[in-house]
Amino acid sequence: MQIEKYSLGIGDRFGREGLAQLRAVQQAEKAGVVVVPVWNKSFREHSLIGTTPDDVRAEADEAVRRGAWKHPYHVDADHIGVKTVDGFLAASDFYTLDVADFIGQPPDEGALAAFVREMASFKGTLRIPGVEASFEVTDAVLEKIGRSYLAAVLEAGKIYRRVLAAKGEGTFIAEVSTDEATEPQLPFELFFILGALAREKIPVQTIAPKFSGKFLKGIDYVGDTQAFARELDADLAVVKHAISVFGLPASLKISVHTGSDKFSLYPIINRALAKHGAGLHLKTAGTNWLEEVIGVALSGPRGLGVAKKIYLTGLPRFDELVKPYATVVEIDRAKLPTPAAVDRWTAEELVSRLRHDQSNPAYDLHLRQFVHVAFRVAAEMGAEWTGALEAASEVAGRCVTENLFDRHIRPLFFSSSSGA
Ligand SMILES: [Zn+2]
Repeated sequence: MQIEKYSLGIGDRFGREGLAQLRAVQQAEKAGVVVVPVWNKSFREHSLIGTTPDDVRAEADEAVRRGAWKHPYHVDADHIGVKTVDGFLAASDFYTLDVADFIGQPPDEGALAAFVREMASFKGTLRIPGVEASFEVTDAVLEKIGRSYLAAVLEAGKIYRRVLAAKGEGTFIAEVSTDEATEPQLPFELFFILGALAREKIPVQTIAPKFSGKFLKGIDYVGDTQAFARELDADLAVVKHAISVFGLPASLKISVHTGSDKFSLYPIINRALAKHGAGLHLKTAGTNWLEEVIGVALSGPRGLGVAKKIYLTGLPRFDELVKPYATVVEIDRAKLPTPAAVDRWTAEELVSRLRHDQSNPAYDLHLRQFVHVAFRVAAEMGAEWTGALEAASEVAGRCVTENLFDRHIRPLFFSSSSGA
């Protein structure tokens, strides 16, 4: 099973927006670019909401049937490990093997020595076509890379083989993710990580490195966009080179986990993909939840009340709600609107603060990040939330489709010069 050149990780907390999300890739298809949808949901998200991987499979199948989508689509077991993979074996055909926690763990000394030995042919000056800088490879350098990443790669092998034993060869796509690591991976480290994955016989098709800068939930990139551009450019060259040198699948591509909405990076990514003729997997899922809140708020007085209630109920539970996401949000609690202010808002006032439109002076990135992590409150509201979502299905669905196509797919996958 090969991943297509362009794919988009989508998904919504409550499993209601399958068709609305599909509509966005159908809009892309109509405009001439096939972007394959990949419904993803992590173990963490499932446990916070009380859904199962089978629910995501049902949502995806149903959306594809109703929308008559003729291209491939996938269901991603997002950020799974050995302990969490089993629940995803029936539902998923895409596995994001998350081994970030194993980075820096000491590898088995024998395995480390074997890695250094097998990579010895790269000793000396390593040049990667398309990367300006060269890199001096010595035993010490290889050992250092091995000490940082080998345990993670071996762990990926463990998870991979577990899926392989259950599903059989060629029946699923493997992604390896290290994006939730504390330190970014340098392009030359990425090269040797890919080499180690090849040694481990993992036919990795997408790799999610950690880039420099901050990928906070729901808001734009925080960091040096030019540094990101240089890193991505080098990573794309590394991937191309690693495919031929290590015999990895030709479909191997970079996966960017955005935590949603890294809008300032999209034009950079767009140009880099064109330059390298490269494919991309982009994960966006959390953005749909915020569009649902916007849709519900816009659906009428009852919906507005429900949208406000999520915030007002969540606010006193700030610490508890933020905790699972502590490393990927930066919310200044003192800047969050007071309950009294929120009470008075019209739907338009709420939406103008919450919607990711940086040209709108009312846009509030603290509010947006907080609502992003407050989905648990909606899950606890049960029928009150799902009923409001149901009643708002038309407007919420429209918000989901427009957001995915206009703010994500178009700037990423369509060239700005073609006017498409
Ligand atoms: Zn991720």
